[in-house]
Amino acid sequence: TNLAGEAAGATPAMRQYFAAKEQYPDCLVFCRIGDFYELFYEDAILVSRVLQLTLTARDREKKQPMCGVPYHAAEVYLQKLLRMGYKVALMEQMEDPKQTKSVVRREVTRVLTPGTALDPALGAEQSNYLASVAVLSAGTAQGGGQVCGLALLDLSTGEFRATEFSGAGGWAALVDELGRVRPVELLYGSGLLGGVNLAGENETAAGLDAIRTKTAVEEWVFTAEYAVPLVRNHFKVHSLDGMGLGGHEAATVAAGALLHYMRATKQGGLEHVDGLRFYERSTCLELDAVSVRNLELVEPLFSGESAQTTLFYTMDACCTPMGKRLLRASLLRPASGLGEIEARLEAVGEAVGDLRRREELRRSMDGLLDLERLLGRVALDSAGPREVMALAKTLGCLPGVVAAVKAFGAARWRELGESVDPLEDLYEMIVRTIVEEPPVSIGDGGAVRVGVDAELDELRELSRSGRQALAAIEERERERTGIGSLKVRFNNVFGYYLEVTKANAKAVPADYERKQTLVNAERFTTPELKEYETKILTAQERSGEIEKKIFAELRRQLLEAAGRMRETARKIAEIDLMGCFAHLAALRGWVRPNVEVSGVLEFVQARHPVVERRMEESGGGRFVPNSVHLDADAGPAVLLITGPNMGGKSTYLRMAALLVVMTQMGSFVPAEGMRLGLVDRIYTRIGASDNVARGRSTFMVEMTETAAILNTATNRSLVLLDEMGRGTATYDGLSLAWATVEHLHDRIGARTLFATHYHELTLLADRLARLTNLRVTVKETAGGIVFLHTVEAGPASKSYGIEVARLAGLPSGVIARAREVLKVHERAETQQVREASPTLAPQMQMTMFTPLSQRIVDRLAEADVDGLTPREALNLLAELQREL
Ligand code: ADP
Repeated sequence: TNLAGEAAGATPAMRQYFAAKEQYPDCLVFCRIGDFYELFYEDAILVSRVLQLTLTARDREKKQPMCGVPYHAAEVYLQKLLRMGYKVALMEQMEDPKQTKSVVRREVTRVLTPGTALDPALGAEQSNYLASVAVLSAGTAQGGGQVCGLALLDLSTGEFRATEFSGAGGWAALVDELGRVRPVELLYGSGLLGGVNLAGENETAAGLDAIRTKTAVEEWVFTAEYAVPLVRNHFKVHSLDGMGLGGHEAATVAAGALLHYMRATKQGGLEHVDGLRFYERSTCLELDAVSVRNLELVEPLFSGESAQTTLFYTMDACCTPMGKRLLRASLLRPASGLGEIEARLEAVGEAVGDLRRREELRRSMDGLLDLERLLGRVALDSAGPREVMALAKTLGCLPGVVAAVKAFGAARWRELGESVDPLEDLYEMIVRTIVEEPPVSIGDGGAVRVGVDAELDELRELSRSGRQALAAIEERERERTGIGSLKVRFNNVFGYYLEVTKANAKAVPADYERKQTLVNAERFTTPELKEYETKILTAQERSGEIEKKIFAELRRQLLEAAGRMRETARKIAEIDLMGCFAHLAALRGWVRPNVEVSGVLEFVQARHPVVERRMEESGGGRFVPNSVHLDADAGPAVLLITGPNMGGKSTYLRMAALLVVMTQMGSFVPAEGMRLGLVDRIYTRIGASDNVARGRSTFMVEMTETAAILNTATNRSLVLLDEMGRGTATYDGLSLAWATVEHLHDRIGARTLFATHYHELTLLADRLARLTNLRVTVKETAGGIVFLHTVEAGPASKSYGIEVARLAGLPSGVIARAREVLKVHERAETQQVREASPTLAPQMQMTMFTPLSQRIVDRLAEADVDGLTPREALNLLAELQREL
């Protein structure tokens, strides 16, 4: 629709709407009209569709589409829209409609966006990041090129940090970081669209794809001249060096643009955003977005699957929301420094061995609420007296936690025990001011304790005695007039009055002054009543004011201590996380890994933590432990794992990566022993991922991911490759897999686990000194084959598929013929491979289940489902099951 054209002939109210729409073109404008928020035109059409509201027309002739939601129920609708990634501008009535004759003035008072509006349904362990990216050209001193700055703000906790990426891979690294952080909204300079592809066409841009709301901000905001002073002013500092931002202009600009956006969308309450921290990615074990997804660290691989497949779920035994958030953050950014990891392991170790102290510690944290979120609510002025009291209850638990921590002796515990600020003064301040069971809102009155303010106490006494006096008046007047049903009442319009039924109106004395006549009753007042009314009402009004003032002062003082509270929250998170690790280790029999700086990756009888737990929970047998030995410096660097489908290859690969992540987080691991030379980065290229569903070429994705590995892995990295080359023709795939293994072995020397169905690759062991063949084992029994899930040395048997086919009952003639064909191919192939490169024999690919399942499929296809009785259907089912 042509809004400008419509605006010309519009009513004054609609002109206000058009003006708002012009100012906030990318928002849905919710226009307050009476008791409703109304939407018009495209906004109305869209919102009525996504929220299933009735679409009406404002003006039948002009057919202006319109829909509305009741004002008092708007919250629910707004949250839904925000969760879907939309932005909303709230346009309010700035004057009381009753007080104005002309059109009510309306203005946009707040813009709600996914990154700035707090979702009450936000999970405690989740963060709600608003991200901002700035791309600046680097000075000649930094060798020219680009520097990409990234700033992240979680308004629910006040966490604010920024970082930078430079050099050729800078943008890709930033996109990677976004993929890990998963912000709900991204801000970028409007000019950036030309330079980099925010739409995510780029194959590596999965990190960008996942962000639903991308908001373009004017380009001039992303300049040092404008944005840097904004940051300085917000934090009231002269220099940003103290925050570690010195020399990091791109990061600072990104942060400044973010603050600008908060202002532009009229977000109040930024007091709790009282610090900005520069962070460096290199201090952690790097995990790219692909690996985070493949390893199911925090989310299941396929959205919609149960979260129980994630390592987060398996490891979450934290007592507090702060701990849960730190667990999640640590899974995404495990440490890479030896000192840091050992300090945690040491502390965890002490708590593992001391059941009593461990339980005391965990009990002390029971019932601790989300300190950071509560603080956030106080800052946003959405916290009432109840929330403030809840905050006090949580603060009241802190001394107990500190005492429990101090019972331990490890250095990290001591450090924490001495440095945690138990915030006793803040606790005191709240409980001294607020009553134990306060009302929801300060406006309800009665939130402030007796004894806090002398005037308040006096006023309360006054209105109490005033109300008593009214009761006395009622009693007295009943006697004087003889009207037993006479009542003293109150309403907002008329104040206090004496009410008499129509029938008794004759008995009213002459000194009563008529105030209002109703159908059945008359209402009167007297000079005496008026006097009390004024007394009571002014007392109430005044005491309301005083309570509000006291509460505002309390809020101010709490916010002044925001930095201290956040620091405490951070330390509580750390305490909780170590307590959680200790608890899991003791409960599940995990052991302390030995960490060192070397190329070793060795674990003895290890278990996959997630699969093991799931098997336990479903009663599905025991997980079979396996061992790994790799040494990037001296021993085997590449393990090539072959064996049938379902044999346990992927599980083995993932287990290795998960144990590394756990170790570097400072957790114990499910194994009999583990030795780990610290890993700088984990790379994964696992199976066909959900990219297929998103319509991308699987092979292209696979090759892009493989390229990233070969270009950036170091000999301190861990590389997992599973079923590489599957997305293309056999020859291509095999050749690429072959060359990739050679490159990893000869040039990079990274610890590599390579699972493949290309049997030909096992021949590489003859040529590559540091490649070891492993296979997953299977036992043939009379009843069929059993997967043993043990990994042992040597290549898998080639004729394996044929054996399985035989067991499955393929005619013996076919089996014999297959053996012949295989032999011919094997000879040819071995010859060729030994001679030089893998000029390839046609691959004999017999997947195990084809012959078996084909029979079942045929039976099913034949069955006439409509013609079967339930009994026959059950019989058929039983028969098919016997065939398995
Ligand atoms: P592959 O990658 O060889 O096709 P998977 O790793 O996907 O095989 O494993 C197949 C199945 O076997 C999975 O359901 C997994 O839970 C189970 N499994 C794998 N390894 C083990 C093990 N060590 N102990 C018990 N079950 C296992």
